[in-house]
Formats: sequence, structure tokens, C-alpha cells
Amino acid sequence: MTTTVTETLQHWVNNAPFTGEGDTRTAKVYNPATGEVAREVALASKNTTEAAIASAREAFPKWRDTSLARRTAIMFNYRQLLAERKGELAAIITAEHGKVLDDALGEIARGMEIVELCCNAPYLLKGEYSENASTGVDVQSLRQPVGVSAIISPFNFPAMVPLWFFPVAIASGNTVVLKPSEKDPTAAQWMAELFAEAGLPEGVLNVVHGDKESVDTLLTDPRVDTVSFVGSTPIAQYVYSTGTSHGKRVQAFGGAKNHMLVLPDADLDLAADMAVNAGFGAAGERCMAISVVVALETIADELVAKIAERAKKLRVGDGTRGCDMGPLITGEHRDKVAGYIEQGISSGAELVVDGRTGQLDADGNGFFLHPTLFDKVGTDMSIYTDEIFGPVLSVVRVETFNEGIDLINASKYGNGTAIFTNDGGAARRFENEIQVGMVGVNVPIPVPVGYHSFGGWKASLFGDQHAYGPEGFKFFTRNKVVTKRWLDPSHGGINLGFPQND
Ligand code: NAD
Repeated sequence: MTTTVTETLQHWVNNAPFTGEGDTRTAKVYNPATGEVAREVALASKNTTEAAIASAREAFPKWRDTSLARRTAIMFNYRQLLAERKGELAAIITAEHGKVLDDALGEIARGMEIVELCCNAPYLLKGEYSENASTGVDVQSLRQPVGVSAIISPFNFPAMVPLWFFPVAIASGNTVVLKPSEKDPTAAQWMAELFAEAGLPEGVLNVVHGDKESVDTLLTDPRVDTVSFVGSTPIAQYVYSTGTSHGKRVQAFGGAKNHMLVLPDADLDLAADMAVNAGFGAAGERCMAISVVVALETIADELVAKIAERAKKLRVGDGTRGCDMGPLITGEHRDKVAGYIEQGISSGAELVVDGRTGQLDADGNGFFLHPTLFDKVGTDMSIYTDEIFGPVLSVVRVETFNEGIDLINASKYGNGTAIFTNDGGAARRFENEIQVGMVGVNVPIPVPVGYHSFGGWKASLFGDQHAYGPEGFKFFTRNKVVTKRWLDPSHGGINLGFPQND
């Protein structure tokens, strides 16, 4: 495997590094734990992006006709190599994203679930057959690959989010242009190189690094058939409207504000542990992070005290040093999150734990904040309405269970939510009435396993097919129905009426 860690990270096209065609811009990639620039990454021009699309287009006819047996064999090799070399990938993620090494290994494990699912792709791609639908007429439905798939991913899961899509696209017979986040691009490149080592033919998985210029090219180029996007809601909405208006099939996953409702009968120590894990893991930079705890007034004081006690004990620092929580992705983002802490204070929320100061286990000038906890947050405050995407947890107090449900249902987002209770009836009502795509019952981050599908509702997803699982295979294939009759002398004769079955 060639090393990709060069001064300026280049693209990956036709199973080889690609210096692009007329790129004039680069972006800085930081080590967020030290604040140092680790490398630069090329930002693809329109021409560079078009070259990657051309490579995927050229590879498509041969790949779509590659047998399921051969595709599956490559997928098994890939799974094996990922399992053997996941430590290298985790180190890359920690160095560029900042999340602690255990968490990086966790995202790889969840991403590998999708590769494992794809080892079973032939089963999921099976069609259906009806013999004698009409006399002597058989009907068959089959799923065929769509063509060239563009995948545009965010910074917060540099391995897992691309893995939600490209294995499914490829196992289904499509070819891919992946445009990872320019903030932590090396993981995607590493995974593409490893797939080539596993035997993936040239042109089937290409990586272009870039920003709006390359995304816009992917959204408008007629040779791209599907677009899978994950990122913030405004960009998801833009990607969905631009891509669909150019005739593409688009699934665009957006932002989130996930609530955790704690009922009075819940085990409050468990609930506090889970709120801390789900609120501050990956420094709150998860689309399924819990950012709001909705507490029934009767237990709110006790719950807030338990969360505060735990939050204060978290070790913050360099992700390679066994800390609980690492830095934020950039200095700019750290400052934006710190700005929300100011806004929370000035809008009258009660600051219980102030994350703007605290002990650090890190060298240099990393982009750190400590866990922050606000109580008595109002639903009109910006710390409640906005997706902060940092280690800031808000507690909203409610008087009743119904008020809690109404509050969650009023949110513009609908990605994930959780209820903590030992009351099966209450949990059942919550499952039934809550307007959110992924629901946890005593499970704070209910990211579905690989053989179900991932997706939120409302402003958390534009499009109607969720990621991976059965819906992922539907997204990356088109249904075709063949109605057939083999010649028989009895079929002659003129009849201009609409075909009927008998
Ligand atoms: P982002 O929207 O800034 O960027 C996502 C991708 O879009 C990147 O590849 C980026 O290069 C590209 N991009 C950025 N600006 C663009 C523009 N103007 N035009 C075209 N492309 C553009 O998101 P991010 O900061 O990288 O990631 C964090 C966001 O992603 C959060 O909002 C988080 O909730 C969301 N997210 C959602 C899910 C989900 O499943 N719903 C999962 C992970 C992350």
C-alpha cells in the first residue's frame, strides 16, 4: 500500500494517487489536539472532479457485470484487511479529528458492520419471480445498479459515514466518487487504498478532496446518478434541491438536536451515566449526540446533580493519552461553541458546569473545551434551538410526560431520541407517538445495527431512503420488472385491447 501522508494530500483515482487537473487551492488539515497544521489537502477543481467522475463512469459497465461471487469475494477480503489494520485507521482518525482512540475504534467497528452486511449482498439483491402470472406468462423483478454514486461526507465520522454508503453502492454494482470532509480527509483515502489492496478494480472507488466547487460539480454533472450526502441541515437541503433538480436520486442527511426524556421512575444513576456518555462523547460532535436532557421536575434537581458530578470528573486532552474527551475539530468551531456558552448565560440559563476552563492533558494549543452543563434552559434560547455540535448539554425541565413528548415533537429536527424509564407502558407510548426516526428505550445513542437502516425525520433527512440495511440497497438499485412469454402457436391473433391476465 502506498503511503498517502504527504505534504499535500492528493486525490485517488483509478486506484492511484491523482494530482488533479488545474487545482489551485488547498486547505489546512490540523491536529486538533495540538493546534498544529499536520498537512494540506488539495481542493479539487471542476476539472479534477470531472476526471474522477469519468473514471467511475468508465469502470461502471464492467463492474455492474462482475459476478456477485467475485464482488462478494472482494468484500470479504476488504473486511479481513480492515479487521487486521483498524489500528492504523484509528490513529489517522484521532490525529485529524481529535476523538479519543477508543472512540475512533468504535466508529470503525460500526462502519465495518456495513462491510459485513455487504458480504451478504447477493441475498439482499435477490429479485422475485411469478410463474404463470397469465397463462404462459412469467413475471420477474430484478434490482440493477443505478450507475455512478457520489458520496459527500462530514468531518465528524471520517470512517463510519463513508462506510455507510460506499460498500453498499459497490456491492450493488455501482461505481463511486467519494468526497470526504476536507477537514479530516486521510481516513477516506486510506480506506480506498485498502479496498484496492483487497482486489477492487480500477475506477470503482475514487476519492476527490474538495469543497463546494467539487460538490457542485458532482451535483450537476449528468454522469452522476445518485448522491448520498451527510452534513449540516442547510447544506443537506441545498444538496437535495440541486441534485434532484438535475435529475439525480438524492438522500441528504442533515443536522440534529437529540432529546433524552427521563421519567421519575428511571434509574437516575444510569440515566446520568448515559447523558454524560452521549452528551460529551466525541466532544458532542456526533449527529446522534444527546444535547438536551428533558427532566420531569420532580427528579430534575437530583438528576442535574448527578450529571454535574460526572461531567466534572471527565479527563479532557489528547486522544492518544487515554483521556475521556478530545478537542473540537478547529479553533473556529471551538470559538463558536464557546460563543454559545456566553449566549446561554446571557439568556438566563443556569450554568452548572462551565467548560471554558479546566485541566488539560495535552501539549500545544489544541482546540479544547471542557464539558458544559446548563440547567433551566428555555426553548426560546439559542442553546436550545441551535445545533451546537460541541460538549454543551442543556437540561429542560417539564411538569408532565405529555409536555415532554410535545416538546420533542415540536423540534424541527427528528434524528434520534431516547426515553429513560422502567415503565413499559410509558415507553410504548413514547415509541408510538414520537416524531423521530431513531428511538432508544434506555439506550441513549440508538444508531441502528447494519441490517436495519439509519435515518432521521424532518430536517434531519431530505429524501426518502435511509442509509444502509435494506433501504440502502434500495437506494443504490433500480427495480426492473420483466414480463415474458415464449412463443407458442396459440399466441397469434390481433387484439388492440389493454393486456389482461387470464
Ligand atoms: P458540513 O455541512 O459543513 O459539511 C458536510 C460536507 O459538505 C463536507 O464534505 C463539506 O465539504 C461539504 N460542504 C460544506 N459546505 C458546502 C457548501 N456550501 N456547498 C456544498 N458542499 C459543502 O457538515 P460538517 O460540519 O462536516 O458535519 C457536521 C454536521 O453533519 C452536523 O450538522 C451533524 O449533525 C451532521 N451529521 C449528520 C448525520 C446524520 O446522519 N444525520 C451524521 C453525521 C453528521
